[in-house]
Amino acid sequence: MTDCIFCKIVNGEIKTTLIYEDDKVLAFNDIDPQAPVHILVIPKEHISSINNINENNHEIVGYIYSIISKLAKEKGIADKGYRIVSNCGQEGGQTVDHLHFHLLGGRNLQWPPG
Ligand code: AMP
Ligand code: ZN
Repeated sequence: MTDCIFCKIVNGEIKTTLIYEDDKVLAFNDIDPQAPVHILVIPKEHISSINNINENNHEIVGYIYSIISKLAKEKGIADKGYRIVSNCGQEGGQTVDHLHFHLLGGRNLQWPPG
């Protein structure tokens, strides 16, 4: 999508600190980190949110989790623990309408979220 920030990151129009890339997904550092490790993992395909996951495209979610699992180990947070967040819609706190998963770790995360 032409006006989507994350699609612009996928096609190189906007620069980020790239953590991981393959033909299906991209992972990069969040520009406004909320924890010592704060990585966003996104599908390269534009999917607006979890609301647009269905039987035709759900495999990407499992694939993204496999990448997250790998990145958590690489970043040294797998054993201590971390959190995956995918905000959906206005009340869920979603500000970028391109499906993404926050990988947060490196500090004691509180619960419940705000
Ligand atoms: P959400 O609020 O859950 O939709 O998450 C969107 C995230 O994207 C926020 O944590 C932002 O800090 C992050 N973000 C927005 N623009 C950029 C960018 N250009 N590079 C990296 N992260 C970004
Ligand atoms: Zn997009």
